[in-house]
Amino acid sequence: MARYIFVTGGVVSSLGKGLSSASLAYLLQSQGFKVRLRKLDPYLNVDPGTMSPFQHGEVFVTDDGAETDLDLGHYERFTGVSAKQSDNITTGKIYSDIIKKERKGLYLGKTVQVIPHVTDRIKEFIKNDLSKEDFVICEIGGTVGDIESLPFLEAIRQFSIEIGKKNSLFIHLTLVPYMKASDEIKTKPTQHSVKELRTIGIQPDIIICRCEKNIPLDQRKKISLFCNVDIENVIETIDVNTIYEAPISFHKEKLDHQVLRHFKIKPKRKVNLNPWKEITKKVFNPKKNVNIAIIGKYVNLKDAYKSLDEALVHGGIYNNTKVNLVRIESDHLKKNKIKNLFKNIHGILIPGGFGKRGTEGKIEAIKYARTNKIPFLGICYGMQLSMIEFARNVLKIKKASSTEFDKNCIPVVGLLNEWKRGNVLMKGTATNIGGTMRLGSYKANLKINSLVKSIYKSNSINERHRHRYEVNLQYRNEFEKKGLIFSGMSPDNELPEIIELKNHPWFIGVQFHPEFKSRPLNPHPLFSSFIKAAIKNEK
Ligand code: GLN
Repeated sequence: MARYIFVTGGVVSSLGKGLSSASLAYLLQSQGFKVRLRKLDPYLNVDPGTMSPFQHGEVFVTDDGAETDLDLGHYERFTGVSAKQSDNITTGKIYSDIIKKERKGLYLGKTVQVIPHVTDRIKEFIKNDLSKEDFVICEIGGTVGDIESLPFLEAIRQFSIEIGKKNSLFIHLTLVPYMKASDEIKTKPTQHSVKELRTIGIQPDIIICRCEKNIPLDQRKKISLFCNVDIENVIETIDVNTIYEAPISFHKEKLDHQVLRHFKIKPKRKVNLNPWKEITKKVFNPKKNVNIAIIGKYVNLKDAYKSLDEALVHGGIYNNTKVNLVRIESDHLKKNKIKNLFKNIHGILIPGGFGKRGTEGKIEAIKYARTNKIPFLGICYGMQLSMIEFARNVLKIKKASSTEFDKNCIPVVGLLNEWKRGNVLMKGTATNIGGTMRLGSYKANLKINSLVKSIYKSNSINERHRHRYEVNLQYRNEFEKKGLIFSGMSPDNELPEIIELKNHPWFIGVQFHPEFKSRPLNPHPLFSSFIKAAIKNEK
């Protein structure tokens, strides 16, 4: 039977619950256990798909097409296990399921209530779709004390009673602030936060204390005494210099050891921290440096392109190179300033995006990369805009654009009406924004002798999509005549998935999001190759 570990957070948000959960998962996995990670989000959106990156950061897409919380990206990157639709649930999804059921009369005349109906649905989710996992780690979004997380906390409390205390474990992550003025480490916020948890019936077994400085024994004792946890279960986590140090530092603090001790289980094999040690070494001792410009709408928002930033770092690790991300707001890209802005840039990347704002600046940047032979990677919107740039400036179709932001244009990019997933015909609708996109993993065949084929070293690939529009094949001949290669196509040959340029050292546009599949221990070949090309350009 699986053991369940519940991770909650207190005092403030953004303490790194996702990273802590993912690191613990790695440590357990490395000691021979099968682990699954799940995220329970208390907000009312059905999924984060319709949320602005300003609100929520990146939307992470799974193979099976779920638009999920970005923490699932951390989970995948640390464990190598692909997340699924069934690994992320929100209050919105739960209520929407319950209301559908209620309208069908399936509650048989009962009053539908938070307890037991909402809590039962949460409990069902926690144990749904598992296959012989030794551990299921469930991270509860939000901060203890929020009104919206209450049903989740109540559900995990009940769940732990139902499966038995010996099969469940509560980890609470809190902030232990350091007061510079008095040179003191303060435990009171942690005490309050644990008190809040205990009010709703949850006694944490382990407390992870996020702190700027080491927590002295006296303060640890205080936390242990007032929060009613074993002193050995007061684990500190000090800000790491790179997230890849997190598994190493949690192991040093014996987090995994204490978890296994709680469950009275012995490790099946010795933990292997070498991959993280090697990565950390490379991150701190790069042989080279490259500057990659990322041009987007939300570039200054830390989490808006989380997986992308990570994938670029992975490409750097592969090449023993430090990748400096130069974030450029597309609104600020003016034609006359481009040359200056790109003076020390070795590669240009246009990430996924939506809507008209900033598109003209991005198109200018693409033109610059194409004509100056700078390595260029266009992802999703980046690929669509590179087609528009080529159509306007090479094919001289001046009105070329996308119907996404110009209804009266010559549609080089148009709305995706139907597409195939395997043999199933999928259809999009333009009216209902949520859940109408081509989402999740699709196969593409690669053209012989193409650059991408040499990069992937494979005839076909599977990559994750998240878009409503696609490149219009109507102009294929014109594009090809001028040296644009459709180097990746959907298996039915209907949808262009990758394009590249013949007379350019490295210019690739992909309709999918390769960043979702890049992992530090297994960098994505497109990013490794892109960084390699940028290094060449640096000389
Ligand atoms: N806005 C474009 C579309 O919907 C691109 C989406 C993206 O870059 N993820 O097709």
